[in-house]
Amino acid sequence: MNIQDKRFVIIGAGASGMSSAYFLYKSGASKICVFERELLGSGSTGRCAGIVSTQLWNEIDIKLARRSIEIFEEISRKVPYFKVYKKGFISIAGKEKSKKYINRIMDILKGEKINYKIYQGQEAEKAFSFLKNSEDKLILETPDDIYCDSGMFLYTIYSYLRKEKIDLKLLREVEGFRTSNREIKGLWVKGIYYPADIFIICAGVWSKKILEKIGIKIPLLPYRTQIAVLRKKDLTDIPVIYDLDTELYIRKEFPDKAIIGNGTETKESSLIFKENPDEEFIYGVIPEITNIVNDFEDAEYMGGWAGLCAATPDRQPLIGKISEFENLYIIAGFNGFGFMRIPAIAENFVSYLTENRTEIDISSYSIERFKGKEIEKFEIKQGFSFID
Ligand SMILES: Cc1cc2nc3c(=O)[nH]c(=O)nc-3n(C[C@H](O)[C@H](O)[C@H](O)COP(=O)(O)OP(=O)(O)OC[C@H]3O[C@@H](n4cnc5c(N)ncnc54)[C@H](O)[C@@H]3O)c2cc1C
Repeated sequence: MNIQDKRFVIIGAGASGMSSAYFLYKSGASKICVFERELLGSGSTGRCAGIVSTQLWNEIDIKLARRSIEIFEEISRKVPYFKVYKKGFISIAGKEKSKKYINRIMDILKGEKINYKIYQGQEAEKAFSFLKNSEDKLILETPDDIYCDSGMFLYTIYSYLRKEKIDLKLLREVEGFRTSNREIKGLWVKGIYYPADIFIICAGVWSKKILEKIGIKIPLLPYRTQIAVLRKKDLTDIPVIYDLDTELYIRKEFPDKAIIGNGTETKESSLIFKENPDEEFIYGVIPEITNIVNDFEDAEYMGGWAGLCAATPDRQPLIGKISEFENLYIIAGFNGFGFMRIPAIAENFVSYLTENRTEIDISSYSIERFKGKEIEKFEIKQGFSFID
């Protein structure tokens, strides 16, 4: 596709939309317009913990996370205020089911030549003195994993693209489309009509609602996850910790702050949701975390938030063409693990669009896999453990 003259419209300025705009621009497109119904970071990306880990469940996702780390690092080298923290990621397994998970992904990590190390018994105790009962656990470390500030990532791309005069329209909710035969001709925003050639839906959990306007059903359900911010004096320099038994994760935020998240919700949420964490979560999190990490008994609860994640039936994203229309595409459905894969997905999506080839084969994430299947209702599965 000769993209120089094409007018691209991206709906949603979260990580998917901003990364797609970035890679489209880098591939030579200059007529790019991003519509965002609220402000930058109003969706899931602004509420994300910013954890990027290669400890995932299949070769494609591991490749995507590894490439995303490279992209985050490339951007941080160009823009000093966007910081990448290479502190590594450890998964801790006490229960048999969790240990089984570690053993399975370890083989995949090995196949993908990811730098990893496994610890048990005294070695675990020595290496991770900040963990409680580490000698009884199986611990998998991937030292090259990172975290970064997801809001700052959006802002960095936004500043870069604005400088290059890409049209970013904030506070502009896409309300509807004009279609003709199998083509989208344009869209409506606050009564103004915008024509374009290619349309990419990057609207996170709201993508389903947008597509319903043109009679397209996609298998996507919102579920709510929560984060608590704890103050802990003299917090040691810990890697990101993920406790597979409880599905709680913890990462350092500032010298005296940690954020603790849960990815365990399996109930469908409304798109209008409670943005503060539940009392039960807030009061439960300190006792739970003291069973995982040492010296958290004196931690204080400082705040927190909740956000929506987008579930799909097989917990894999929806990437690529929507076959009902010739010029309509989607990037959505990340099941709580979007930030860590989105930059690489957007890069590959753009090279598929522009050159019909990809470095990492993401064709199995095509929405076509659900064609002819019952997709309205499905079970929302939790955390990392879905592999079983
Ligand atoms: C609490 C929490 C913690 C998380 N932690 C992590 C983590 O550590 N690592 C990780 O990999 N993932 C994490 N995730 C998941 C991650 O945040 C998401 O997978 C990712 O941000 C999805 O990005 P997105 O661009 O697809 O969607 P979003 O960021 O939701 O962006 C979609 C945008 O579309 C806009 N929009 C919607 N409707 C319209 C419309 N009609 N017109 C115009 N704009 C519209 C929305 O306002 C929104 O800004 C977390 C999620 C939550 C909630």
